Amino acid sequence: MKGRINEVFKSVQGEGPYAGEEQVFVRLFGCNLSCRFCDTPLKGFREYEPQELLEDIKSHKQEVHSVSFTGGEPLLQRDFLREVLMLTSQAGYKNYLETNGTLFSELKGLIDFVDIVAMDFKLSSSAGMGDLLWMHRRFLEIASKKEVFIKAVVCATTTESDLAESLKLIKEVKRDAILVLQPNSREAGPQLQDKLARFKELSEAEGVDTRVIPQMHKEWGVK
Ligand code: SF4
Repeated sequence: MKGRINEVFKSVQGEGPYAGEEQVFVRLFGCNLSCRFCDTPLKGFREYEPQELLEDIKSHKQEVHSVSFTGGEPLLQRDFLREVLMLTSQAGYKNYLETNGTLFSELKGLIDFVDIVAMDFKLSSSAGMGDLLWMHRRFLEIASKKEVFIKAVVCATTTESDLAESLKLIKEVKRDAILVLQPNSREAGPQLQDKLARFKELSEAEGVDTRVIPQMHKEWGVK
C-alpha cells in the first residue's frame, strides 16, 4: 500500500497550545475542502510505502515532541495513515493529527493510534464552505476519546452567530476542550484584533477555555 506525501521535514509546531514544540511533520497530499483562506498549496507528491515513511521520519531527529500528520487532509488516506500511525507508535513516537475535522468515519478507524487531535472548526462565515458543524460534532465525539483541542480561523467576515454555534457544540460534546482562535494572517490588523478580543470574551462568558494564538510559523519566518 502506498501513500501520497507532499513533504517530510522537522520544524517547530506553530499553532495552538503546543506552539514551540519540535516535531517531525508529514504533510499528506490532497484535501476534501477548499477553504477561502487556504494558504497550503500542495504542489505534487512522492509515493511512500508505510515502512519507507517511518525510515524517513526516523532520519530526522529522534527526540521530538511528536510526529505531526498534517495536510491537506491526512484522513483522506485513511488506510495508509493507519498503517503509518501503528508503525510510529511502535517506534515510540507520539502521534499528533492535524485535521480539518470533517472525515469522522475515517477518524473512527484509527483514533486508537492517535495521541493528540488538533481539529479545525471551519466556520461557514470564515471558510465559505457551507455548514460543516454537523460533521465537526460527529468528529469531536470520536476525537474526545483522546486529547483534543479545536482551532478556528477568524476573518473579517466571521460572524458572532457562527462563534455562538461553535461554543454550543463544544459545551455539549467536550466542555473542557480548548478553543484556539487564529487571526487570518492575510487580514491581520487592529480591526481583527478587536474582533478576536470580543470573541474571546464571548467564549469565556460561556465557560469555554479560549486562547488567541496567531499562526506562529509566519511570525517566526520558519516552515
Ligand atoms: S482544510 Fe486546510 S488544506 Fe484543506 S482547503 Fe482548508 S485550509 Fe486548505
